[in-house]
Amino acid sequence: MTKNIAVIRGDGIGPEIMAQAIAVLDCIAEKFEHTFIYTEAPMGGEAIDRFGDPLPQSTLDSCLKSDSVLLSAVGGPKWDNVPKDKRPERGLLRLRAGLGLYANLRPARLFDELRDASPLKPAIVEKGIDFVVVRELIGGAYFGEHKTEARNGEDYAQDIMGYSEHEIERIAHVAFQTARKRSKKVCSVDKANVLDSSKLWRRVVTKVAESYPDVILSHMYVDNCAMQLVRDPSQFDVIVTENLFGDILSDEASMITGSIGMIPSSSLGDGTRGLYEPIHGSAPDIAGTDAANPIGMILSAAMMLRYSFEMVKEADAIERAVDSVLQEGFRTGDTMSAGKTKLGCSAAGKAVCEKIQ
Ligand code: NAD
Repeated sequence: MTKNIAVIRGDGIGPEIMAQAIAVLDCIAEKFEHTFIYTEAPMGGEAIDRFGDPLPQSTLDSCLKSDSVLLSAVGGPKWDNVPKDKRPERGLLRLRAGLGLYANLRPARLFDELRDASPLKPAIVEKGIDFVVVRELIGGAYFGEHKTEARNGEDYAQDIMGYSEHEIERIAHVAFQTARKRSKKVCSVDKANVLDSSKLWRRVVTKVAESYPDVILSHMYVDNCAMQLVRDPSQFDVIVTENLFGDILSDEASMITGSIGMIPSSSLGDGTRGLYEPIHGSAPDIAGTDAANPIGMILSAAMMLRYSFEMVKEADAIERAVDSVLQEGFRTGDTMSAGKTKLGCSAAGKAVCEKIQ
């Protein structure tokens, strides 16, 4: 199979971890006889420096022409003071909207080998952590009207959180379909005791559930969910929620599994094209030192093979290789513990490639 992949190398540790993900994809291409064609698509700080825009039209066009998009991370202190509409994160929001990516899937799985890295008590961790947060990505407060104005002699600011039925329906379908491939449980998270947008959310999700009688639906308020995630994360299979709640809960979910350097994510729309990226940022504090953990980026590439290209055995091969590297006691600095062998970013990528071969 031949696939065109738009590659956003990004800023900070971005180019270092992307190089490892591409090396792993090249191993897969060789072993399974595929051809991956990579197109460089500058975005974020790099694009601001070169084109004065965090998402040049040519980058969006390349992504729209591709079969899928791989992104490392963008941003850094160098661009912290550029005008708001030119900030690297703006490029990311525009890219998600431009590609129509309304669903963000973020797996939270505790690797057996990294149990000690979880900040939760062993008695809680022993029950296992393996769920997916399905977050609505292009609606809600981040995309509603924002304004700051003078009112009654002081500043007043507001951000509107709004959802229409079709926006809730389509993300609910993603959640139920994801649950069907897992343990068939969806927990919809909202604040329906206070917010109108949440009342609509709950009504629409309940209606969509009628098409999935094999999946069990429950509802939970967001404040309770934040507590349950640290009290007993083993109760969750698929959590579906709106954009702002999902942003916060998915970060909490990643924290309880240990290092943020290990976790991939995918953003999907109606077609098969997706945007695949690790959940962490550009880690400017360790950029250029070969200390970054490339596994979140490598597992993002595996998710791309699984969800956008239907290359299931290829994705399995990457995930198994990562598991074996960890089982053999190799760690990057962020997950290092006594008795393990420390690897740099490039050596960690090489170790995964060797396992695949
Ligand atoms: P960050 O995720 O970049 O870093 C937080 C901490 O985690 C740092 O100590 C960092 O060294 C460590 N870390 C992150 N990824 C790691 C990895 N793969 N291996 C080892 N350690 C890792 O978050 P931050 O410091 O808040 O943000 C830095 C920059 O990244 C900011 O400019 C921010 O806007 C940007 N950012 C971008 C994205 C994105 O592109 N999607 C997401 C979050 C933050």
